[in-house]
Amino acid sequence: MYNYGLKPCPFCGATEEDFKLLVIPYMSKRSKKCEICCVECQTDFVFYSKDQSPVKHIKGEKYRREEAVKREAIAAWNRRANNG
Ligand SMILES: [Zn+2]
Repeated sequence: MYNYGLKPCPFCGATEEDFKLLVIPYMSKRSKKCEICCVECQTDFVFYSKDQSPVKHIKGEKYRREEAVKREAIAAWNRRANNG
């Protein structure tokens, strides 16, 4: 379903097909949080982004805010998965 390059869940080993990614506004219209939920073990990882800009550049590529939040959350998830 997704192909974001998410590492497997550090708790149950489920792969990204078992994850749900949600980008939700919080506090203000532009501040977003991204939830990565593992459906298998109910792990809920929440990444908050307070960046207000509607577009963001990551490695030379321009992303709309929502997509950028997802990318940042994925990078944070992968760092955490690496650390156990
Ligand atoms: Zn899991």
